[in-house]
Amino acid sequence: MILLSPSTTFDNTPASVAQFYSDNLREETLKGLNEKVQQGWLPTHAPYGYVNDPDDPAEPIKVHPEHSPAVVRMFQLFSLGDLTLDGVGEKLAEEGYVYQPANPRFRWKTVSYILNNPFYAGDINWHGRRFPGKHKPLIDRGTFEVCKDLLSGRNRRIRQVNLPLSGGLFRCRYCGYAITGEEIKKRQSDGTFKNHVYYRCSNHDMPPSHPKVRWRASDLKQAIVDQLNGLRLPPEVTAWFREALRASLSDEETYRKKIRRVLQKRESELFNKKAKLLDTYLAGDVEQETFQEKNEGLKAELARVQEEMASETKVNAEFADMATAIFDLTQKAAETWLGSCNSVRRELLEILCTNRELDEVSLRLTWRCPFDEVAKTAISGYGVAERT
Ligand SMILES: [Zn+2]
Repeated sequence: MILLSPSTTFDNTPASVAQFYSDNLREETLKGLNEKVQQGWLPTHAPYGYVNDPDDPAEPIKVHPEHSPAVVRMFQLFSLGDLTLDGVGEKLAEEGYVYQPANPRFRWKTVSYILNNPFYAGDINWHGRRFPGKHKPLIDRGTFEVCKDLLSGRNRRIRQVNLPLSGGLFRCRYCGYAITGEEIKKRQSDGTFKNHVYYRCSNHDMPPSHPKVRWRASDLKQAIVDQLNGLRLPPEVTAWFREALRASLSDEETYRKKIRRVLQKRESELFNKKAKLLDTYLAGDVEQETFQEKNEGLKAELARVQEEMASETKVNAEFADMATAIFDLTQKAAETWLGSCNSVRRELLEILCTNRELDEVSLRLTWRCPFDEVAKTAISGYGVAERT
């Protein structure tokens, strides 16, 4: 590139003049483009789903009425986390979306290109830098980020959960892949349609030996309830367990009471000392400096003792609440689960067990400590076999 400065000697051959003009033109053009980007408008051809409108300076890039719905649907489908790029193209074709009349199907490369373009969420990528755009975004930033994470193979659990038990809550026992949900529209005998939800292994390249892991939503729900019911202890054991829990808490209580008494005694001693010190000072028996020094010392110790008393009460209350809550949770797990909303249901399963595995016929839960102890007691004493 020719840099023109006052000291530059400019040789006047036609070639270098042409070069100068073309470089300068390029510079000028780039400057104009950069300005446009800074104003929030992509200065080049609008991506698929949008259309350039050079006649409207207020909105030079508009949403394409026919193409945009396919883009929106593409992000929706991919963000669910169980389709490959090719699978998204296939599904779009099935649903009747057309890429271009001559080239109706979205190939995986096009899908990937679109899903990676932040323009759809409102940003402009310009020579490696991100600028906020003024065009109407087609999707929200959250969905874009979910797709980005899925594309990079990061945490599959971040994604939106549209079916209550999908999203990695359960794993396939054969390959470890997340169990994912799918909704299938089935024609009824009376001609109407009904949606059925299934949960299946999300592995798209499963070996031939991989059994078919696919459950009806209602069967999976029943299996969960059965497992949670397995934590239930018979009434006499429950009574014993509560008694033991209360006894251990009352031991704890006796100990705490002792500590509290010691602290209370120390507190009243300190109050008396302070009062006596003040009397001596008022009677003129100690200097002001000595009085202040001793008084500060007593005040500091009093504050420490009071702080300790406050934390003692708190710890004790929390411990008692927690122990009872944990036990009660195990005894009502199935009812609590059934009576809760989807997010609480997920949370409850995550609190109670570390692993949730599905094969073609059974659900296996790995109980978290201390629930494993309750489960063991329930199973060893009173077989779960009678349930199944
Ligand atoms: Zn699998």
